[in-house]
Amino acid sequence: MSDLRELYQEVILDHNKSPRNFHALPAPASKSEGYNPLCGDRLNLYLLLEDGCVKDIAFEGSGCAISKASASLMTAAVKGKSVREAEALFEKFHRVVSGKGSEEDLKSLGSLASLAGVSEFPARVKCATLCWHTLHSGLEHKNTTATSE
Ligand code: ZN
Repeated sequence: MSDLRELYQEVILDHNKSPRNFHALPAPASKSEGYNPLCGDRLNLYLLLEDGCVKDIAFEGSGCAISKASASLMTAAVKGKSVREAEALFEKFHRVVSGKGSEEDLKSLGSLASLAGVSEFPARVKCATLCWHTLHSGLEHKNTTATSE
């Protein structure tokens, strides 16, 4: 049986304590909101796209350690990537945290793989994927609030 404490590895603790890209971005960056009612995680994601690439990305919000660390890791991972690469990364990440990822998926996730342990805790999967759902709606320019449902 997995121990919940194993989920809170050093990488997650570090990103929760010192989140990367944790600030607002001025216009013309777009803003998308994410909310996970199950845990109470909320986040605002700021996205600046240029030539089909994520030129800059940042977030603000409050929530549990998993949601915050995941948003921090995500912003670091997708900054500078093309929209297509970011969406592909989301698909891989989603497969891994849902327990459906391949060994190859896991290896290609880099530091995002530190969240793979949430697959053992279904309620936590929503915390870890909230920021990605919010990114997804931001990339599609939907001015709606993303939920983890
Ligand atoms: Zn949470």
